[in-house]
Amino acid sequence: MSGTVLVTGASGYIAGFTIRQLLAEGWQVRGSIRNLARADEVRATLGVSAAELPLVAVDLLSDSGWAEAAAGCTHLLHIASPVLAGVPTHEDDLIRPAREGALRALAAAKAAGVGRVVLTSSVAAITYGHGKTDKLYTEADWTDLASPTTGAYAKSKTIAERAARDWMAANGAGMEFATINPGMVLGPVLGPDFSASLEVVKRLIDGSMPGLPHVGFSIVDVREVADAHVKALTVPGIDGERFIVAGDEFLWLDEIAALLKARLGPRAAKVPSRRLPDFVVRLASLFSPPLRFVASELGRRRALSSAHAKARLGIRFRASADSLADAANSLIDAGIVKV
Ligand code: NAP
Repeated sequence: MSGTVLVTGASGYIAGFTIRQLLAEGWQVRGSIRNLARADEVRATLGVSAAELPLVAVDLLSDSGWAEAAAGCTHLLHIASPVLAGVPTHEDDLIRPAREGALRALAAAKAAGVGRVVLTSSVAAITYGHGKTDKLYTEADWTDLASPTTGAYAKSKTIAERAARDWMAANGAGMEFATINPGMVLGPVLGPDFSASLEVVKRLIDGSMPGLPHVGFSIVDVREVADAHVKALTVPGIDGERFIVAGDEFLWLDEIAALLKARLGPRAAKVPSRRLPDFVVRLASLFSPPLRFVASELGRRRALSSAHAKARLGIRFRASADSLADAANSLIDAGIVKV
């Protein structure tokens, strides 16, 4: 493939797999990180040379470096945005970098003459604030920012995607734009700096979870998320579109625990089997802010349709059990979790 892609957040989990696929497919790639002191570590984690992956410094919260980062690029994958397992001190800690970073990326892309920008949004910009429902969510749905059950991360992704779309409507003539909206991203880790989305698997296998609250997830493998980003760079006729990328199964945590036990055998010895009653989680959440989010998720099923990504991007999703097993085994093999 000919073209030069700027990938923001090259130190991140999804960006790492995406960069590897881009290089394998013959793209020229430039990565951005916050701090160039991490350049060697980032390249070593990905197994790439400085010639294969030039790195530039940009911060989502600063104007500095964006023009140089985007200069000469034909495409831009804006993947960087803060991801947190817990609760931020203030919701603006997530919202500001998500929103301002998206706008800086778009403005730099436009000024550099980039032809297409793909932004990593999330199903968190789709499924929150709709109450308890068995509906199958599609790209037509948007998270309700006014709902008290919409947390800081979901707000950050919704506000950033909406701001990017508004910016494109006002300023984006001549540049194409699409978003990839992944579910909970799992799969093998490349090193110790993995995404917060792997925390659930880590805590299940390291035995630090006392029991299983009745919450669940739609899982997607990091390799399919990377594939969706790469395909969205070139598939024609997708300007303005959103693509949910998530496996077909919505899995409750007790099903995830059972799958880990079945697939990992003795390596899953510390995975709990006991379901935590809802009232226990609600009671505990009174004393623990991170548990408040878990309590608000009790019994909420968020089933997602990836029909659009399958049809237009040609993505084929592997079974969630395979992504779970690969995540758990790689955390153990890398010595990150002792079992
Ligand atoms: P990750 O490994 O934590 O990557 C986040 C990246 O964003 C890192 O490279 C991080 O840089 C960068 N970043 C954060 N704040 C920044 C700032 N102020 N300036 C510059 N860079 C900053 O998480 P990930 O899962 O790969 O997430 C990548 C994208 O996917 C995010 O947009 C996220 O919202 C989205 N997403 C993730 C999931 C999931 O389940 N993991 C699901 C849906 C969507 P540092 O390394 O310097 O911190």
